[in-house]
Amino acid sequence: MKRLLSIFAILFCAATAFATSPALIPLPQQMVLQTGTFTLCPAQLIPGAPAPAVTKILVDTASRETGEYLAAQLFKSTGYRFEIATNSGAAPVAGTILLTTNSALAILGVEGYELTVATNSVVIRAPASAGVFYGVQSLLQLLPPEIFSPRPVVGVPWTIPCVYIQDAPRFPWRGWMLDSVRHFFNKDEVKEFVDAMALHKLNMFHWHLDDDTAWRIEILKWPLLTQVGAWRTNVNFGLNPRSSTAYGDDGRYGGFYTQADIREIVAYAAQRHITVVPEIEMPGHSSAALNAYPQFGCGCQTCSSPPGSLDNTNSNAGGVFCAARPETMAFLQDVLTEVMDLFPGPYIHVGGDEVNSSNWQQHSLDQTLKSSLGITSMQQYQGYFTQQIANWLKSRGRTMIGWSEIMNGGLVTNAVVMDWLTGSSSRAQQAATNQQFAVMTPTSTCYINYVENPGVTWSVEPPSQSGTVTLSTVYNFEPIPANLPAAFTNYILGAQGNNWAEFIPSRLNMEFKMFPRLCALAEVTWTAPSLKNYTDFSNRLAIHKQRLTQMGVNYNPSLTPPQIAAWTASQISTSLSVLSWDITSSVTTAGEIDVSFCWKTGANGLDIAWAALLENGVEIDRDTHAGFTGATPSRPAYVLRLPARKPGATYILQAFAAGRSGTNSNGVIYRPNWD
Ligand SMILES: [Zn+2]
Repeated sequence: MKRLLSIFAILFCAATAFATSPALIPLPQQMVLQTGTFTLCPAQLIPGAPAPAVTKILVDTASRETGEYLAAQLFKSTGYRFEIATNSGAAPVAGTILLTTNSALAILGVEGYELTVATNSVVIRAPASAGVFYGVQSLLQLLPPEIFSPRPVVGVPWTIPCVYIQDAPRFPWRGWMLDSVRHFFNKDEVKEFVDAMALHKLNMFHWHLDDDTAWRIEILKWPLLTQVGAWRTNVNFGLNPRSSTAYGDDGRYGGFYTQADIREIVAYAAQRHITVVPEIEMPGHSSAALNAYPQFGCGCQTCSSPPGSLDNTNSNAGGVFCAARPETMAFLQDVLTEVMDLFPGPYIHVGGDEVNSSNWQQHSLDQTLKSSLGITSMQQYQGYFTQQIANWLKSRGRTMIGWSEIMNGGLVTNAVVMDWLTGSSSRAQQAATNQQFAVMTPTSTCYINYVENPGVTWSVEPPSQSGTVTLSTVYNFEPIPANLPAAFTNYILGAQGNNWAEFIPSRLNMEFKMFPRLCALAEVTWTAPSLKNYTDFSNRLAIHKQRLTQMGVNYNPSLTPPQIAAWTASQISTSLSVLSWDITSSVTTAGEIDVSFCWKTGANGLDIAWAALLENGVEIDRDTHAGFTGATPSRPAYVLRLPARKPGATYILQAFAAGRSGTNSNGVIYRPNWD
């Protein structure tokens, strides 16, 4: 692979001479632009009945599913129906897109491909079906951004520049982690995230399915896990609970994935060559499970108990499974058996981070076991527990993954380390030099739920978990640890972006934090380092954002949102009074209207008791919660809902507000798109 990359690097120098090189993300290893274009189909001049496309899609057996995926994508935006025909040949055929695994370059590996666009034919040739799929992703990006529209687009010339691409990923693990625990994303939302992963040639979907605050996966043998563990009344978002759609019929917050839901999502991901890696946390972060089944905790007299309710405000409540009770291990094996049945991929993630071992220290059973094993530290005791799980999974043909801390007590074998920590706590080097695999996801570069643009919370960005990870920080991340000897670098499987959801109450907010940083992470894991250039990436990203827009992905534009109103000191009183603004011109459609009050100048901030939307003088909706906008703002965004927009009506925004300790307050009201 290394030799291949150096060939790519030389050839790429020639390709970059073309100023108008297509804006592909992630950047292919080699791309040579040629003169001319291939016309996929004529522009639709009027939206009408689906027309048959002149261009046909030819497939061999291994490429048929991807051929059907391509035809479905093309139909949505072009309105043309593309016929799919079987062709076992390897040569280009005029007027067709040939997808084939015949006569492919074996050196490209299971995920590599060649893409040749000539004026009269397109060929995607790959050693295996995954490479064919990635070739199709590149082909789609060579088309105008409107190709990603979910609806037929009129007037777009569907042409593809003639080009030769030879490409293969740098790393086999190009991941993204979704936290469905702190916020429950429904099945359709998860599929949208999977589609966005596919656009970026990401291939590992790490799904965080349980934690202290919820259990999200149906386990048939232990039904209380979801009956009890999937619901809470205290939403506890850093944003406004009104933003969230994850409420049950009884008003409780949460939800879970049935086993049918899981199978559907796993199949959907597999069609996009994405492996789903489920995570079931153990032994820590297990309060939700222990709330359902307390008997699997330590339960000693002085031990801390399960919380009794999931309405806690701490996302890390310190729940810990008893490592000494045989029935606990049997329970965990029951759970993992059903998990393995649902997730056919090679990896099972079992968490292992931030374990609170105080119950183990107080529970005689754990102390007795620990002594009998000759173990001296709690880190080693966790290592003992984890090794049992790793060996058990190995015996069933799977590989265990755990967070950095699984190796705090020493090497755990039959395991992959997912390294989220930095500095001396980082375990990747330790794992790799012991010939154990590692996935890099350090907080400092891969936690893309952190702030992207520091200093502009509540105006340009919603609040986030504390910490900053800028777009360029992600882009410049090098997954191979600097001091890792070359002999062990192959033990670094790749890297992954993580989106923890304590501050993410909606799909819009999630996508705002995912993108464009996940675009950068895709290039980190796919493209050879010698080809990476942040300025070039930024230029390509400008085009790529048009693709995201077409797909309906709510990326962070790093821009001040539209301003819909403002206040000045002369309007402010020190006692609560109603402030009103005519926002009719900003209300162009029905739906959710989010407003963020952003203090700009003056000695006094503004306390806000509620905000309301009025239509022709009649109140339509009101969001009542205590907010403050000032130097240190607190929940100054309000969510207002307009079920139907009435043409010609006047829309007034009201706030019940008071200057805090004075009236010198001036600010603006933005309409953000992330709440
Ligand atoms: Zn115990």
